[in-house]
Amino acid sequence: MSHADLPLTDALVDYIRTVSPEEPDYLRRLREETALHPRARMQITPEQGHFLGLLVRMLGATRAIEVGVFTGYSSIAVARALPAKGLLIACDVSEEFTRIARRYWQEAGLSAKIDLRLAPAMETLRGLLDAHQAGHFDFAFIDADKTNYLGYYEHCLELLRPGGLIAIDNTLWSGRILEEHSDDPDTVALREVNRFVAQDERVWSCLLPIGDGLTLALKR
Ligand code: CA
Repeated sequence: MSHADLPLTDALVDYIRTVSPEEPDYLRRLREETALHPRARMQITPEQGHFLGLLVRMLGATRAIEVGVFTGYSSIAVARALPAKGLLIACDVSEEFTRIARRYWQEAGLSAKIDLRLAPAMETLRGLLDAHQAGHFDFAFIDADKTNYLGYYEHCLELLRPGGLIAIDNTLWSGRILEEHSDDPDTVALREVNRFVAQDERVWSCLLPIGDGLTLALKR
């Protein structure tokens, strides 16, 4: 165990859940409803949700961006941690998935804090930059189509203030990140993102083995 983290067994994950703050009932139901969905693996874990919320609170964030809403678990985790006047710009292209998200935002009393933009996220992010919003955000969570990750990262970095944080999901890609000769576009894109962020002198970064790999990049 000289250079590896403790292997996270199912028993340890269960244990972590017993000592984690309890999920509100609506989050548990959202997780259970999403688990029945064919693309359920796109949902973050409860531990990631707690962690994102903690990051938002640590940053004292009031303005956040989410790229990739899916059924809304992560947007709720982030929006709950924002102050009453906080704002989350939530980007997604799926009417079907975000219909579920909107139902739970409503139930959680978070609808007023979440501004859903149903459009390709690159368009939404470019629109924010065109509207002179550069440097006006504290936090961004990127969890969408992997082949656009570098573009999302660049735009979010520009939208963040110095000291703002980007969290990038799936950076270990179920271990497929090790497949050096893979020509799968998602794997190739994630490998490129990981290399790029690690060498990017505009940020301090760290790849955490949480969930499916979560990279944090703090804007200098
Ligand atoms: Ca993800």
